[in-house]
Amino acid sequence: SFSLPVMDTAVTPSLDNPVRLNFNENAIGMSGTAKQAAIDAVPKANRYAKAEILLLSKRLAQYHNVSEEHILLTAGSSEGIRSAIAAHINPNTQLVIPELTYGDGEHFAKTFNLKITKVPSLKDWQIDINGLRKAVENHQGFSIVYLVNPNNPTSTVIGYKEVESWITSKPKNTLFIIDEAYAEFVNDPVFRSVDSLIFQGYSNIILLKTFSKIHAMAGLRVGYVVSSPDNIKNIGQYVAGEKLNYCGVCAALASIDDNQFLTYSKKATDVSRNIMEKVLSELGLHYLKSETNFIFHKSPIELGQYRELMKKNFILIGRDSNPATNWCRISLGTPGEMLYVANVLYGLREKSLI
Ligand code: PLP
Repeated sequence: SFSLPVMDTAVTPSLDNPVRLNFNENAIGMSGTAKQAAIDAVPKANRYAKAEILLLSKRLAQYHNVSEEHILLTAGSSEGIRSAIAAHINPNTQLVIPELTYGDGEHFAKTFNLKITKVPSLKDWQIDINGLRKAVENHQGFSIVYLVNPNNPTSTVIGYKEVESWITSKPKNTLFIIDEAYAEFVNDPVFRSVDSLIFQGYSNIILLKTFSKIHAMAGLRVGYVVSSPDNIKNIGQYVAGEKLNYCGVCAALASIDDNQFLTYSKKATDVSRNIMEKVLSELGLHYLKSETNFIFHKSPIELGQYRELMKKNFILIGRDSNPATNWCRISLGTPGEMLYVANVLYGLREKSLI
């Protein structure tokens, strides 16, 4: 019964205005009220957003059922990843990650000269929790486990039973950084946020969140960390002062209470995913069950060639996802954009180019 106006919007991409499916952005754009709040904040932005930052922390605490002392605002979750790692470097620290995941954990850990332990995936790039556990157990020293759930670039989820049984077993010298950037898109009930464990008092978890995805605010740079008050105090020393940009903070405050927009953002993504899954199935291209605003599929030809071919048709698709050679990550655009993409893919198949 939900109406999707964008369904009727035919898109006419061009070289200068391509369909951008390469960065997992949210193509529908920000909530109208958030946009207005950002505009209204511009004349105030000669000041720091002190009062609004407090309001946003309060609102986010309420949202996650924790106290304000459990929340730290960050400039996107990227700053969250970097500061969470920076705050937990002990002697002999290793970063443990699945071999195929979002690159920022590894990237920042390298800047701190941490040992990186990558754990091979199971079939179809499924994350091997037992393998990760073993990597922690085999290490003499401190382990930071960076888990992206749902994962990027695979778009798949790890069930809460696996995640929670590991975390609640409180393995010694182990800290879990759980990046739930895409959680609001998930349909599969095996997923559950770890925020409830933080509420229960587990202090071995750092939850990272962002307004870049479901809220469509990637360019406004608002994210936050949820963790125990002690962890928050510690991580707080490593962020650039929690002085977020005024427009972003005001937009976030408006967006978090715009339920109509959030429902729309999710539904539009579901419709776009349905379009893409139908095309991939009909073309016989293997894909993983998507729980986010992107989908991971076997490239029909060598990935670089596929990317070029799509670019000629004004569609930008994802980069290499090592070590998944010739697998392609396509972000989900608006339903209108995905209908365009579908037509392009069918056309390329007709010409036997893919
Ligand atoms: N975490 C994951 C899993 C992501 O995919 C991204 C961006 O694509 C980020 C974090 C960083 O996003 P931001 O800094 O905009 O919150």
